[in-house]
Amino acid sequence: MSGLRPRRVFILGVPVDDVTEAEACAIAAQCVERGGVHQFATVNPEFIMTAQRLPEFKALLQRTELNVPDGVGVLWAARQCGSPLRERVAGVDLMTRLCAVAAERGWRVFLLGAQPGVADRAAELLVLRCPGLRVCGTFAGSPRPEHAEDIVARIRAADPHLLFVAYGAPAQDLWLGEHLPHLERPGHGMLGMGVGGAFDFIAGVQRRAPRWVQRLGLEWLYRLVRQPWRWRRQLALVRFAWLVLREREATMLRL
Ligand code: UDP
Repeated sequence: MSGLRPRRVFILGVPVDDVTEAEACAIAAQCVERGGVHQFATVNPEFIMTAQRLPEFKALLQRTELNVPDGVGVLWAARQCGSPLRERVAGVDLMTRLCAVAAERGWRVFLLGAQPGVADRAAELLVLRCPGLRVCGTFAGSPRPEHAEDIVARIRAADPHLLFVAYGAPAQDLWLGEHLPHLERPGHGMLGMGVGGAFDFIAGVQRRAPRWVQRLGLEWLYRLVRQPWRWRRQLALVRFAWLVLREREATMLRL
């Protein structure tokens, strides 16, 4: 990676990069122009907790090109570690901004994942928002291994520069880690990024928290109120906070 390599903070062994949304777009452009395949991840506390019990997920997050800090919990943890990160970069915001860059530069974009029809609707709305955007494919597909061959063939035929995958973590990120190497094309680079519920938000299937709620750092609470089944997943956040504080104490004792 060239001069744009940002500072990294390790939270419970998972690297998170100190980038702004604009810097993440500049690094994406470098990746596409350099050739080869590259992967970004949007790291939130749930990612970090999943990585504690799934070594292959932690290993993947240690070799991705860029891990953006997607969640106030990650910003809080970085402050506890004494290495504050400048801003939250939400996956859906980064995806939308990357589509604007793609429209400017003539890159093709592929949307993989979410429920049938959602990626198509998200693509239509992205084209309205980013005139000139070339969406070369959409497919709901599934992260199941038996579907991978067909999906890889579709993506290779469409030949995108940007591949957004919405299967939720860790499935989307592990899928990319396994299959991106088979998607390498001569002539241009490809960037793959797992985006969780981003297609649902862009398509309007799920509503995002209002800006003022996002600014207060309470988007997680808004999602919990709208999708109460998430409470079990969000219990991981309590354990996350506890582990971060325990690690901070251990570090202070060593100093
Ligand atoms: N999803 C999918 N196939 C699956 C599992 C999930 O397409 O086998 C999609 C689901 O429809 C949703 C996205 O993956 O669009 C995950 O959304 P979620 O809100 O759970 O992700 P998060 O943002 O919490 O990571």
